[in-house]
Amino acid sequence: MQTQDQTGIICDICKATNKEDFVYYSVNVMKVKQYGGRRPPITDILQQKPEKSFDFCAACYESVSDEVVNVYTSSMNNRTGIVKHFCGLTGVDLVLSDAYYYAVFGKVSVNMSKQPYVCLKCGKNSITKNVCVCGGVDFRKNASVEASSRDLEISICQDRYHYWVSKQNVPVESSWSSSS
Ligand SMILES: [Zn+2]
Ligand SMILES: [Zn+2]
Repeated sequence: MQTQDQTGIICDICKATNKEDFVYYSVNVMKVKQYGGRRPPITDILQQKPEKSFDFCAACYESVSDEVVNVYTSSMNNRTGIVKHFCGLTGVDLVLSDAYYYAVFGKVSVNMSKQPYVCLKCGKNSITKNVCVCGGVDFRKNASVEASSRDLEISICQDRYHYWVSKQNVPVESSWSSSS
């Protein structure tokens, strides 16, 4: 989620605050219903409205990709020739569940430190925070944001989805709002 002053992001999972220049991952999660183990095509899933969206910091994204590698590696070791459908994070078999979730991670790069100050009074750019030619003394920076949409896509089990939701619902301590 965005910080209250809108200059950064708080990770929905570990509650770390990222400000100024940082990378985070915007995660859209779609709920997928299965009938008799038959899942809809990915193109249909991607057109669905997300059930929920999360913001992951770079560290939480790293641990997610580590889990994906681990699950993938162990599934390769037990290879039987049968194409399985499992949770990308826990390895739980999804074939028999009536519903699972599909998570799409998109990388977002935010840069604020290299951006000019913008005078709040006249809207002109300024290199410094000194008094503007218009007399304005309040400035802000507009972040430049670069986003890519599909860096990692995984099916996840209902347990993991509910774990993320429970993390997201943990209130953020107010200490961050005074630090900047
Ligand atoms: Zn995090
Ligand atoms: Zn001005």
